[in-house]
Amino acid sequence: MTDRSAPPPLICSSCDGFASVAITLGGRDRHGHLRTITAHCPACNGLGAIRPPRTREGAHA
Ligand SMILES: [Zn+2]
Repeated sequence: MTDRSAPPPLICSSCDGFASVAITLGGRDRHGHLRTITAHCPACNGLGAIRPPRTREGAHA
């Protein structure tokens, strides 16, 4: 029996789905805006989900 449906993507355990976060640098600029940088989760490259481990396809030669 073959199941061709792709498994759903898994939520990244490192960022719990919040792959992009704004980090405050402290202080505000002259316009009063909070200075932030955007960081992406290195585990999922900002996707928020990780691909499940590949099952070996075509293993039977
Ligand atoms: Zn992540």
